[in-house]
Amino acid sequence: MRRPIVAGNWKMHGTRVDNARLIEELLSRYPDRSIAQCLVCPPFVYLQEVGRLLRDGPIGLGAQDVCAEAQGAFTGEVSAAMLKDVGCGHVIVGHSERRWVYHESDQLVARKFAAAQARALVPILCVGEQLSDREAGRTEEVIARQLDVVLELCGVSALESAVIAYEPVWAIGTGRSATPEQAEVVHAFIRERIGARDAKIAMATRILYGGSVKAGNAAELFDQPDVDGGLIGGASLNAEEFLAILAAAGSR
Ligand code: PEP
Repeated sequence: MRRPIVAGNWKMHGTRVDNARLIEELLSRYPDRSIAQCLVCPPFVYLQEVGRLLRDGPIGLGAQDVCAEAQGAFTGEVSAAMLKDVGCGHVIVGHSERRWVYHESDQLVARKFAAAQARALVPILCVGEQLSDREAGRTEEVIARQLDVVLELCGVSALESAVIAYEPVWAIGTGRSATPEQAEVVHAFIRERIGARDAKIAMATRILYGGSVKAGNAAELFDQPDVDGGLIGGASLNAEEFLAILAAAGSR
């Protein structure tokens, strides 16, 4: 049985006051015996302080991105070692906003994945198709390409300490989630593709769904056999919503 994960991606939101309020509320109402693993990914500047607020409790700390280089003259970048140093356990790589807004290539994303693992951070590798890809019947082709570049660079065994998030670009922040059936088809495809290289690793890899997950649709998405939790954007900024999503993941 794969332990579900619920990860909150705060994107470029929050203030020190908002963050403290949100963490306090999450911790005070956190279910005693949550089956799901939970983490939050604040913006870089707040990582250390949010880590302190989390007080080694049940919620882990993750970052939203990482530099592919280990250190040096890369102004504006943040290395995997730095993320580790401030207490991160996870880092998102290849989020669609990085791929499409900042034109990160599949190769760069794969190098970020490798850089994270080199410092014992668990990468959350995001993959997902644009609406035009889906409409043209190219969803699997796009996902396979994004996944294969990482598998080629890092090897399938790298997935033993990684998480994958399927995030259809057309569903992110749009309020239009994939249906549970649409999500399951792609999740099963991802698992099969990994399984072609190593069946045991494929069965153990956790594949999260992301894209307009809310308290109201989380349970039906997480009920799908290959959906192992969620990467949550907007709804992770609201304690009520986020805790309800966590409860849905815990009761699957
Ligand atoms: C995300 O940012 O990864 C995401 C899935 O956003 P939202 O839940 O707001 O669609």
